[in-house]
Amino acid sequence: MSKPALASAFDIPDAFTIQSVRQENYRIKTFVFDRSLPCKPGQFIMLWIPGVNERPLSVYRSHPLSVSVASVGQFSEKLFHLKHGDRVGIRGPYGNAFELKGKNILLVGGGYGLVPLSFLVTEARKKRVRCTVVIGARKAADVILENEFKKLGCRVFVCTNDGSAGKKGLVTQIANELLSGERFSAVYGCGPEKMEAALVHVARAHRVPVYVSVERSMKCGFGICGACVIGDRLVCAHGTIFTGEELKSNPDFGKQYLDWSGKRKRY
Ligand SMILES: Cc1cc2nc3c(=O)[nH]c(=O)nc-3n(C[C@H](O)[C@H](O)[C@H](O)COP(=O)(O)OP(=O)(O)OC[C@H]3O[C@@H](n4cnc5c(N)ncnc54)[C@H](O)[C@@H]3O)c2cc1C
Repeated sequence: MSKPALASAFDIPDAFTIQSVRQENYRIKTFVFDRSLPCKPGQFIMLWIPGVNERPLSVYRSHPLSVSVASVGQFSEKLFHLKHGDRVGIRGPYGNAFELKGKNILLVGGGYGLVPLSFLVTEARKKRVRCTVVIGARKAADVILENEFKKLGCRVFVCTNDGSAGKKGLVTQIANELLSGERFSAVYGCGPEKMEAALVHVARAHRVPVYVSVERSMKCGFGICGACVIGDRLVCAHGTIFTGEELKSNPDFGKQYLDWSGKRKRY
């Protein structure tokens, strides 16, 4: 169970030591820590690098705890310099978890959005759930976790913006084709919010329950700072996983968000 939001207000970071680092592609690394943290698929932790900053990261695995991070800015670049034996602070886990529904699920992810979906697949496969995964990336070099999903026994489809791997096009086009030809019990998505909004639209058109993990800037992770507001919800405390039904009438979803300074920005 995820913790009730405000019960976490007094959490202080716990020290975790990096056990190993694996390069997933030219800009994504997986950090495996020295011990476990009981988490469910879809939950996130707050990772603190002393003297740098603290950021939310999806849990990739909980035994031992691991996260996969893309190098895009100041925090992630500093994290990329850390190695075996270095220590960081970790709070959490926070947020709700994916609810497994039925025996034939479709998972659709872009970039490091595949990370929480991979955790969900490990749990689903233990329950003999059939998993079909659509991996989206800008180009071949950005595709991650394809072999891992295959090893877990998933049917895998890859698509890239430039056609350099798999089919050329958008994950939502493949999702739409799959949903047209087969009855899925649920759809799960994680990736850029525009992609998630399109996925919610497609899944609802096929009348299949859909769950997406929404990502917003957040500072506290447990419902205090308000940075991750989306309509009348807070992503950290009410999500990060929302159903298509919850999101269909949310005025912010796929449209606008608050940046780090609290300024409203349009996608
Ligand atoms: C619930 C949650 C889960 C998350 N899980 C993960 C995860 O599993 N792995 C992960 O790598 N990150 C994850 N993030 C994002 C992470 O918290 C940071 O935002 C990210 O690491 C960038 O921080 P930064 O300081 O390095 O870059 P910033 O200084 O915040 O950004 C630097 C520049 O990069 C751009 N940028 C920021 N993020 C991205 C991006 N994803 N792709 C392209 N450009 C970007 C910014 O617009 C800015 O121009 C998650 C965020 C949330 C809210």
